[in-house]
Amino acid sequence: MDNSRYVLGGAVWINLVNTINKRMDDILDDQSRTIQWLEANNLLGESNAETIKNPELLQSLIDELQGLRSLCKEILTELEEQGTPSAYAKDQIQKLIERVHVRLTLVQAAEKLDLICQGVTLLDHVLYQIVHSMIHTLSTVSLDRIRKCEHENCILYFIDTSKSGKRRWCSMETCGNRQKAAEFYARKKRSYSN
Ligand SMILES: [Zn+2]
Repeated sequence: MDNSRYVLGGAVWINLVNTINKRMDDILDDQSRTIQWLEANNLLGESNAETIKNPELLQSLIDELQGLRSLCKEILTELEEQGTPSAYAKDQIQKLIERVHVRLTLVQAAEKLDLICQGVTLLDHVLYQIVHSMIHTLSTVSLDRIRKCEHENCILYFIDTSKSGKRRWCSMETCGNRQKAAEFYARKKRSYSN
């Protein structure tokens, strides 16, 4: 199975929006694919590897992810249309983080000390990581680098981290090649009809 869609957005919150594609193939509809998606996005710590196998807990996590996905999608649309999230969207983020509990841990690696912030429960942890990813993007990435794939049959988003800033496709292997082939045949057709 092609799992490239799980991480091609370049940030967890955008990868969450990409869990549903234009054909309405929804990764969150399937528990085992959701676990694969969570793993691919490093959202499960070691301590959560067992917890996630509880189907009821997983389902409540999926319900939360569906709600958060709508909010993330709304924010992407607002960024496209008005360049900034609406007051309503910001209020929704605030309401969400008020429910999320985190714990700080002091760690030492080599000579350096660091603070690690983790959600108290699995649900807290996943929600925290996704919201953190969103705020990190909004505060560090310029808007013109957050894009939707240019292919007319694609609705996937990505952050363009390329040096040139000219990335047009969610994936060169799929949409990029399909589009190039379509442009090639369109040119060929035109030259025949001339
Ligand atoms: Zn695409």
